[in-house]
Amino acid sequence: MRRAMVAGNWKMHGTRASVCELTGALAVQDLPANVDVAVFPPSLFIGQVVEALAGKSIAIGGQNCATQVEQGALTGEIASSQLVDAGCELVLVGHSERRLILGESDQVVAQKFAAAQLAGLVPILCVGETLEQREAGETLQVIARQLAVVIRVSGVAAIAKAVVAYEPVWAIGTGLTATPEQAQEVHQAIRRQLAAEDAEVAQATRILYGGSVKAANAADLFGMPDIDGGLIGGASLNANEFGAICRAAGS
Ligand code: PEP
Repeated sequence: MRRAMVAGNWKMHGTRASVCELTGALAVQDLPANVDVAVFPPSLFIGQVVEALAGKSIAIGGQNCATQVEQGALTGEIASSQLVDAGCELVLVGHSERRLILGESDQVVAQKFAAAQLAGLVPILCVGETLEQREAGETLQVIARQLAVVIRVSGVAAIAKAVVAYEPVWAIGTGLTATPEQAQEVHQAIRRQLAAEDAEVAQATRILYGGSVKAANAADLFGMPDIDGGLIGGASLNANEFGAICRAAGS
């Protein structure tokens, strides 16, 4: 039985004051014990969030890490070992905003995934198709390719020690959500791809859905057999909404 997970990606949002308000409101949320909850603040605020949520059952993650594990001469980047030192347990890799706006290739994403695991972080590998790719009928091929590169670099067993997040690009921050059936189709395809290499890995791997998840649509999405929780962007900036999504994942 896979444990549900809800992860909040705060993206490039927040000031010290607003982060203080958000963590204060998160700290008093009634979160279900059967769900792993995590938040991903901008790196600038990781220390502040680790301190503010100390003793709460909310893990902290980075939104990105370098392709190298150890600190060094790489201006502006953050090594996975530094995220661990700061109190992170997880890291997002391959978010579509980084793939499409910042030009991260499948190969770079795979290297970041490997660097994260080497440092002891749990990577959340984001995969997803653009609207153009969906309309061209290429969705499953695109996802399969994004996942295959990581499997080639780290091996399939590494996927069971990570989390996969299916995030259709056309649903991120647009208010358009994949229907539970559309999301399930892709989640099932991801699990089948894993099963073709290792049945146990396929059964153990958590696959989250991300793309305009809100309290109002979370239960229907999380009710699908291959959807193990959500990666939440905009709605994670509202503690009450995020708390409600976590509770939907736990019921
Ligand atoms: C995301 O950025 O990972 C995301 C899913 O965003 P949103 O929930 O705002 O669509």
